[in-house]
Amino acid sequence: MSLLRQPILLLARSRAVKNLVSTLPVSSGIVTGYVPGEDTASAVAATSTLVESGLHVTLDFLGEDTLDVEQADATVAAYLDLLQSLSAAGLARRAEVSVKLSAIGQALPDVGDKLALENARTICRAARNAGTTVTLDMEDHSTTDRTLAVLRDLRKDFPETGAVLQAYLHRTEADCRALAHEGSRVRLCKGAYNEPEEVAFQDRLDVDKSYVRCLKVLLGGAGYPMIATHDPRMIDIAASLASRYGRAPGSYEFQMLYGIRSAEQRRLAAAGETVRVYVPYGEEWYGYLMRRLAERPQNLSFFVKSLISKS
Ligand SMILES: Cc1cc2nc3c(=O)[nH]c(=O)nc-3n(C[C@H](O)[C@H](O)[C@H](O)COP(=O)(O)OP(=O)(O)OC[C@H]3O[C@@H](n4cnc5c(N)ncnc54)[C@H](O)[C@@H]3O)c2cc1C
Repeated sequence: MSLLRQPILLLARSRAVKNLVSTLPVSSGIVTGYVPGEDTASAVAATSTLVESGLHVTLDFLGEDTLDVEQADATVAAYLDLLQSLSAAGLARRAEVSVKLSAIGQALPDVGDKLALENARTICRAARNAGTTVTLDMEDHSTTDRTLAVLRDLRKDFPETGAVLQAYLHRTEADCRALAHEGSRVRLCKGAYNEPEEVAFQDRLDVDKSYVRCLKVLLGGAGYPMIATHDPRMIDIAASLASRYGRAPGSYEFQMLYGIRSAEQRRLAAAGETVRVYVPYGEEWYGYLMRRLAERPQNLSFFVKSLISKS
């Protein structure tokens, strides 16, 4: 893990920092590098451009940790609007949606899990009607069991719903085994949250080793692995494991974030791989931006300059 990751994620929790950063207009270069815009129209326009260049897309309406039923409802409404627009634009075959349960009510006291499940069902139904699918993003480790429980319930009616597992958690290799079955779409990522050593590998090398063990389980299994990483070593290892296990292109996919290693996304797609770009959009871009900066402290100097010029 980067030495700066923890301090950046801690600083990001400060209200003063949040207020300062949130005054940046979304047009500020550092934000638009990671988030194409704040509304459905800009999300659909970015999707259209990516699809034209041979890529697939998964869209995330940004909004985490909702403690408010109305806010959760507004997030569901935003997904329904998005799915309708993707369908109308003829993009639904190539574009699915990613949903964070905390954005649709999971964090509400007492009723959280039930509300998140109902809201996720509504989005899954709309996605199916539009001809596409939903993947449930994974958040910090305190929500892993609850998110996997919602996934199990959702898959009874919507077996196409995708899961996400994070290689930095000690438990993940076992979770991969449980989910590597026929028809199961599973995104494997390294993990983006600041997790304690009791539950997560702290050393970058240990996370990478876990990522490879999980790749073996998923690519050697019967499900549909979604390999979410920008790491050139992990991508090479995944490609050779896919060939070792006799996987044809199209029986798995690579995934990367919008604005990160775009040339590599196009290179893999041109080589015949399925590549899906994760496109976050919406007004609540702050938490997402901070996690990306924490992963890549080299970007911090641009960011600080941008802040100073605004204040
Ligand atoms: C499609 C997708 C979906 C994801 N969904 C989730 C999720 O649901 N839950 C979750 O916890 N995490 C999620 N993540 C984030 C993930 O867990 C990692 O935090 C993130 O992808 C960085 O890890 P990496 O595998 O790219 O490897 P790293 O070792 O972090 O990076 C490898 C290389 O990628 C490039 N790179 C990486 N990050 C950046 C950056 N921010 N800016 C510029 N270059 C960069 C650099 O060249 C770097 O050397 C997702 C990631 C992707 C790609």
